[in-house]
Amino acid sequence: MSNDRFLAKDALGDFLCHCQGLGYTVYSPQKQEGVRESVVFAPWQKGCEIQLAKATVSPKHLLLPQSEVLFRFRHEKGEEGKSSAVHLEDTSQQAQPTLLFAARPCDARGFTMVDRPYLQGLYADPYYAKRREGLCVLTLCCNSGCESCFCHWTGGGPSSPEGSDILMTDIAEGLVLQAITEKGRKLLAQSDLPEAGAASDQATELRRKAWQSLDKAPDLTEAPHKLKELADNLDFWTEQSRACLSCGACTYVCPTCYCFSISDERRFSGMEEGVRLRSWDTCMARHFTEEASGHNPRALKAQRLQNRISHKYAGYPENWGSFSCSGCGRCVTHCPVGIDIRHIVLAAIALPDTQAKEARS
Ligand code: SF4
Ligand code: SF4
Repeated sequence: MSNDRFLAKDALGDFLCHCQGLGYTVYSPQKQEGVRESVVFAPWQKGCEIQLAKATVSPKHLLLPQSEVLFRFRHEKGEEGKSSAVHLEDTSQQAQPTLLFAARPCDARGFTMVDRPYLQGLYADPYYAKRREGLCVLTLCCNSGCESCFCHWTGGGPSSPEGSDILMTDIAEGLVLQAITEKGRKLLAQSDLPEAGAASDQATELRRKAWQSLDKAPDLTEAPHKLKELADNLDFWTEQSRACLSCGACTYVCPTCYCFSISDERRFSGMEEGVRLRSWDTCMARHFTEEASGHNPRALKAQRLQNRISHKYAGYPENWGSFSCSGCGRCVTHCPVGIDIRHIVLAAIALPDTQAKEARS
């Protein structure tokens, strides 16, 4: 017998209030006015409208804030008049338990792709680790594919459980909640939601139909090999990047891009004290790799696009065994000049090896 629970649409607010009562700060998709209306993950409070739409921007800021204080410091003069920085405060232990409501499977899989370098490398990032530990992810399955997303090309799908604590399926009158992890099971056990019963079968059928609605995925097995072959083929990358504006939008909306910069800002009491900040950066910007000498190993936008695509489909898979693209399609939707990562990867695969090698020599 399934342990799924049923959450009626008119009880969503009560459920989120209950989660707040357990100590969680709740984030949910919410409409944001602007030049173009968008949907963003923002803190939810009683009375906020509850949106189930796919968000314009991924929820990665819950684990990697756009800008965060790593620590505070103060400059002091030593005995010989030499200035040295004194570490004042470590903020890594300050993360709050956070509940992410209505992420999509590509968002949740995106977390697992950032987890590997941030948690499973030589060093675990303590800031990220604390937030990850406190994050509970409730993911809404997609009831059909859409034009710009391609999660099933990259190993995912409309009801992939990776990275989620609870999977939710929208069956019109309510949501069927299925616990995936112990954290998810505990949350459901602490709720007074009724068992889903027959609604569970409806959810299973909807998920099956969602998978059936997807176009056949191309075989990307050759992508890492072909992209490595093409690494120095400037003609190929110049052609692919011809329209690129180096705006970085593709990286900022992406759930799996995690480049950052470190900067020190002096802020307090006569500028002697300050903060060390970690802020999002983009490998698509010219200055990202510019060195103090003025040398820039990726001065051309062709080189930067090569780096971004090859990292996701060749370099990362070599290190971690999977693509670092969850196929969410946001970079496709939001690139102002219509550069499409799918077309680039398929063009690389289609290029004969000999052509790639000729262009290298
Ligand atoms: S590279 Fe594009 S499609 Fe892939 S996860 Fe990032 S934004 Fe989504
Ligand atoms: S969003 Fe498009 S134009 Fe902007 S940096 Fe990315 S590929 Fe280039």
